[in-house]
Amino acid sequence: MTTSQHPPASDPTHLTAPSRDALQLIAEGVTQVAGFGVAAISVARDDCTMQVVAVAGSEEARRSLEGARTPIITLMEEIAVADDWGLLKFVPHERLDLPDGEWGWVPDIEPIDAPDAWHPLDLLVAPLSDADGVLRGMLTMDLPTDGRRPGAQQRRMLQVYAEQAGRAVVTALEREALAEQVRLAEAARAVIRHASSHLALEDVLGECQAALAQGFRAGGVWVQTFGEEHQRSAALYAAHHDVPEMDPEVSALAEAVAHRSWDAQRAFVFSVAHPDPVGLLELSAEQRRLVTDFLERIGVGSLLFVPLGAGRDCVGNLVLTRPVGDRGWTETEAAAALDVGHDLGRAVLNARTFEREHLLVQELQTLDGYKSQLIATVSHELKNPLTTVLGHLEILESVDVAPPVRTSLSAMERGARRLARVADDLLLLARMDDPTNTVQRRAVDLRSVVDDVVDLNAVSASMRELTVRVEAPNGRVVAMGDPDELDRVLTNLLSNAVKYSPDGGTIVVNLDRHADEVVLTCSDEGLGISEDDQEQLFTEFFRSSNPEAVAQPGTGLGLAIVQRIVRRHGGRIEVESELGRGSTFRVLLPAA
Ligand code: ADP
Repeated sequence: MTTSQHPPASDPTHLTAPSRDALQLIAEGVTQVAGFGVAAISVARDDCTMQVVAVAGSEEARRSLEGARTPIITLMEEIAVADDWGLLKFVPHERLDLPDGEWGWVPDIEPIDAPDAWHPLDLLVAPLSDADGVLRGMLTMDLPTDGRRPGAQQRRMLQVYAEQAGRAVVTALEREALAEQVRLAEAARAVIRHASSHLALEDVLGECQAALAQGFRAGGVWVQTFGEEHQRSAALYAAHHDVPEMDPEVSALAEAVAHRSWDAQRAFVFSVAHPDPVGLLELSAEQRRLVTDFLERIGVGSLLFVPLGAGRDCVGNLVLTRPVGDRGWTETEAAAALDVGHDLGRAVLNARTFEREHLLVQELQTLDGYKSQLIATVSHELKNPLTTVLGHLEILESVDVAPPVRTSLSAMERGARRLARVADDLLLLARMDDPTNTVQRRAVDLRSVVDDVVDLNAVSASMRELTVRVEAPNGRVVAMGDPDELDRVLTNLLSNAVKYSPDGGTIVVNLDRHADEVVLTCSDEGLGISEDDQEQLFTEFFRSSNPEAVAQPGTGLGLAIVQRIVRRHGGRIEVESELGRGSTFRVLLPAA
């Protein structure tokens, strides 16, 4: 019985349990019913070897043979000189010409003294092919119990077992392929799941690696991403920070190979025996040595090299490794890995876009912070001289001056007050934008806020013959927030309603409680706001395109301040308005 000397791996067969049982039963039938001391069944593997998956009859033979692989070509060379017994092929030992060491297990028996005596080196096999005539497995028998080469009747019986074994092997391989596809599909699904739920590359790869190692039964997994021009540098991510030390030449070669693999849309298997698989990569002798040295140094028997990319861009590579002595990689695994390469490639690109956006946002935030700081400083610097100017103007009010001078002084005071208002608004706006200035929350009864603000605006409203009506439920309407800031919200809304209403109109301030919100509404029957203007209403310095509205004094900062305050209180503001028919501003705040 011949095999080469690969040491079997821990779970050598990789067949499903029912398949293994079926093949084992057939092998046992050959030993018990057909009368052989040992029977073995092998299956053909993608790496052109025949792997023993079931052994019956002898525990010693089982230990020595199970999982072992023999190159199919060696077997075929042996069978080429066989006697053709239908499905069975018999090679008498005298025709076999094998070098020492090619024998996996040779029974220690003395041939009996008869012309048809079985010799320990005789070979009796049944190559098992599928319906298309493709070799899928092999049934091998040894040690006939009667010590003789099988006669006609025994051959007929063996023929029946060979037919059964052929069917069982095909089924076992199909089952195995199916189980493999399911397993790989699960690994690929896990990659997509993790890739779509994370934006940072480290997180995506960190979570995918475990799924990939399990799904692909890989000993090691790492991902190399390539640097972009003027952007992030290349990086290596590996499970458990188990990054292999990679010389610059190896990583440069990996990058070049990844590009070629992506162009060819193939994943490649590298092993010490096959450093340039199928010659497609056209590696030089020097490069091949680089690969084999690297594999040997990190104790890897074989690796599946998968390019990562999206569209025409190759952005990195994924490497799955198996230790020395483990099995190689199947075509199904290589194909599934290439799919994973597409998904991970997209994840890498997404992560890069996200990182770029994130950087941009950070830059903009810094810029925004700088702007707020500038506004605050300038406003502050404006305030002091303005206070001095206004103070002196006040003193001059009691001084007797000629009427033209009085007119000038009044104009100066109006201008200075307006400037002071702008500076105040700007200072407040900067404070509302300052992330270190958090809201000092407490329970605020909005009813008393409404009463205060309406009282304060009563004079300006009555000068314009405006009616301000307050509607509120009985009892307190309590929101959590800063009372001064909430006062400011209503002050701005109500003063706008007064400012932009024609004389004699009605303004309604309404308070209401909803489930977990309180609602403060300010409605007027004034100028109204066009749809276009509504879109920019809360932008700093925005003033209406409506000439009637612009005729009123204003800074364009009032609503910007309102929106900032409402937002930092965890609320929102809505507007309903129609040009010429009035406006309704609705502020919704979390209830206390
Ligand atoms: P200001 O009133 O100082 O100009 P605001 O930010 O308070 O600044 O308002 C921005 C613009 O929105 C105003 O210039 C005005 O055109 C419009 N607006 C605000 N409130 C009303 C309202 N109640 N009715 C009509 N237009 C309004």
